[in-house]
Amino acid sequence: MDSFQYTRARTITEAIGIAAQANTAQQGAPVRFLAGGTTLVDLMKLDVERPTRVVDINKLGLDAIERTADGGLRIGALVRNAALAHDPAVVRDYRVLSEALLSGASAQLRNVATTSGNLLQRTRCMYFRNTAMACNKREPGSGCSAIDGENRTLAILGTSSHCIATNPSDMNVALAALEATIHVQGTRGIRAIAFQDFHLVPGDTPHRETVLEPGDLVTHITLAPPHPGATSRYLKLRDRASYEFALASAAVVVEAASGRFRYVRLAMGGIGTKPWRMTAAEQVLTGAAVDEGAIRQAATVALRDARPQSENGFKVELAQRCLAHALRLATGMASV
Ligand SMILES: Cc1cc2nc3c(=O)[nH]c(=O)nc-3n(C[C@H](O)[C@H](O)[C@H](O)COP(=O)(O)OP(=O)(O)OC[C@H]3O[C@@H](n4cnc5c(N)ncnc54)[C@H](O)[C@@H]3O)c2cc1C
Ligand code: SF4
Repeated sequence: MDSFQYTRARTITEAIGIAAQANTAQQGAPVRFLAGGTTLVDLMKLDVERPTRVVDINKLGLDAIERTADGGLRIGALVRNAALAHDPAVVRDYRVLSEALLSGASAQLRNVATTSGNLLQRTRCMYFRNTAMACNKREPGSGCSAIDGENRTLAILGTSSHCIATNPSDMNVALAALEATIHVQGTRGIRAIAFQDFHLVPGDTPHRETVLEPGDLVTHITLAPPHPGATSRYLKLRDRASYEFALASAAVVVEAASGRFRYVRLAMGGIGTKPWRMTAAEQVLTGAAVDEGAIRQAATVALRDARPQSENGFKVELAQRCLAHALRLATGMASV
């Protein structure tokens, strides 16, 4: 690990100011905000992340979960994953988010990991985490070891010839289905970014994972009021039952009335280079009868653009089954 300067910021303005100043003075040398540290410190120990300055944001008071005036939820960036998963309003109104958080990592990690850190966690592609291997995300232009290498766990949607890594977060999949909004403060002022627009597909710049500019601080996330009558579920399929990243996962938010789907929001994880919204499948289901035929058709449509790699063709059917079963759980057609 390289040596770095550590600063504990006392206000948001100070945190942003330090990051902006360091970026200018050091001509883009990386500055990183430290939240729970469970991704950042890990990657610093591996020499994958090499910030010259680390700004601790734990004392900024961004750790509240509050009702918004319209009946939605405002989640501070530093709210811990465990606190969010067990918050009574989240358990009652946004079950998909609680289930997604509780399916991730371990109890100890969830006690430390934060909302903004989870949102911005880096890929688990093993070549990204190994500085002896070529990786365009870690070192632009160096190549991608995964395309002709071990890619069983990697993406089948949104890939490019430069990178095929998945976004590993469970929480992000739930936030995609809930159409969350990310609130950011930086030298360009305050911005609200729709979740769908926040993460980027790799294209030819896989090192750019979000629309954040250097020094931008995520301050909080907001959720719209829960859709009336909707139920929501998260289903995660993985190699072992706990403490493992998703091979495929599905977040579903649905309202059904008189035997028909009225409102449908779907997102999937473990298969896309970013949290993947399934809009074509949503269109198939909206207005359709709540039955096995419609669910299977939606699952087929959801994966029609999949482009498997040499070792992960199995993910197409796995993801279809995952989405179909999450829909059965949300509509009461299955209980486990
Ligand atoms: C063994 C292990 C197993 C895991 N399993 C899972 C799993 O199954 N599912 C899953 O979803 N996750 C899993 N994780 C990942 C875990 O969820 C993340 O490490 C955690 O959520 C990151 O949060 P943090 O607060 O520790 O982030 P940090 O490490 O502090 O930060 C992560 C990144 O976000 C940036 N950042 C943080 N906050 C802000 C902010 N407010 N504004 C701007 N930038 C910011 C940091 O600079 C850093 O680049 C696992 C992690 C480990 C170590
Ligand atoms: S898939 Fe992406 S993260 Fe993995 S080696 Fe290739 S460029 Fe790097």
